[in-house]
Amino acid sequence: MTKLSVHNLNVHGKRVLVRVDFNVPVENSRITDDTRIVKSLPTLLLLRKGGARIILLAHCGRPRGKPVARYSLRPVFEHLQKLVGNNVFFCPECVGPVANAAALSLKNGDILLLENVRFHAEEEANDSVFSSKLAQLGEIYVNDAFGVVHRAHASIIGVTNHLAITVAGLLMEKELHYLQEKLKNPRRPFLVLLGGAKIADKIGVIRFLMEKADKFLIGGAMAYTFLKAQGVPVGNSLVEADKLDLAGELLALSEKKGVGFFLPLDAIETLKVHPQSIWHNTPSFSQRKGITHGWIGVDIGVETRSLYSAEIAQAATILWNGPLGIFEIQEFSFGTRAIAEAIASNSLATSIVGGGDSVTAVKCLGFGNKMTFLSTGGGSTLALLQGLSLPGIDALSHQERRLA
Ligand code: AMP
Repeated sequence: MTKLSVHNLNVHGKRVLVRVDFNVPVENSRITDDTRIVKSLPTLLLLRKGGARIILLAHCGRPRGKPVARYSLRPVFEHLQKLVGNNVFFCPECVGPVANAAALSLKNGDILLLENVRFHAEEEANDSVFSSKLAQLGEIYVNDAFGVVHRAHASIIGVTNHLAITVAGLLMEKELHYLQEKLKNPRRPFLVLLGGAKIADKIGVIRFLMEKADKFLIGGAMAYTFLKAQGVPVGNSLVEADKLDLAGELLALSEKKGVGFFLPLDAIETLKVHPQSIWHNTPSFSQRKGITHGWIGVDIGVETRSLYSAEIAQAATILWNGPLGIFEIQEFSFGTRAIAEAIASNSLATSIVGGGDSVTAVKCLGFGNKMTFLSTGGGSTLALLQGLSLPGIDALSHQERRLA
């Protein structure tokens, strides 16, 4: 049977429910970063071109199951109108008679954004009655909300039990292409660059990718737990004391598997994590010399930058998750910048930036359009990079099903 996808669906005159991730930052009713909205446009425009009547399900923030004015999707609606022009409507309810009437009044090509699904506690509880009320609004379901596809919520999972056709949207397909398919048989050398605050969040990623990667380059605060496990002094740097044994285990595993596991050779250290605080580059690390007693490692140093840049220049596939220093403070952002620059200069490599703070860093530093792919996920990106299956993906049938 042909696999149904958003490309080959017949949507003409049909009500298509699309779960999108419009959980964007809003300040004083203005959207401060519309990336997630913009990334959903290819799916919306494709459906519109096909003559669908589009009904959007979305959430914003954590209103804990009650209507909360500051989490209304109305500002998102106003922004969406600016992006796609006419025939975009808003409904202040997401289920019930008002929402049903709004959905039924749509004409081909119209787009209707429903109010925040998380205004109902039943959404996060994946309640089946609520799911069936959502499903009643449409005839076909498309999930394009990659950022929440790891959540077992009604608009992600429950709703799929009540509709015969459930498929992934274009953004979802793209995320799966880069974070799953491309990494199954990556072009080599395959280099994994990991930074950020904690090892704890990335253990699963390291273990899973140890089977696939040729080299790991480690930066950020997580590097200090590895360095400490090797006996290098780390001063007052952020260390996960309960992960020292694990760090040692991962280092031993990389050696056993013949996978390169690079740790910083030097660092930028400071007395205080503050923009005006004094800082300098340490000398090269050794068992005796590391971060100065009482100082804090806040970025990779110049020696590390050139070693990592040279490795990046030779890589064919680069996966990057987590900034290499406290990039939010300009003085400590230069390591992350040097790495972004090195990736941008290697135009032959496929570069995949995995969600959250790494994407923010790349964009803040002006390299957003130099990477092959920037993931829109956080938790869902990390789940895929650990080889976990995602409930929202598993729930899609990609074939017309007979409903009980
Ligand atoms: P994550 O969400 O795990 O990717 O962590 C991102 C955070 O790690 C950012 O807010 C960075 O400021 C922070 N970070 C990166 N390097 C360091 C460091 N050396 N010390 C403390 N925090 C860091």
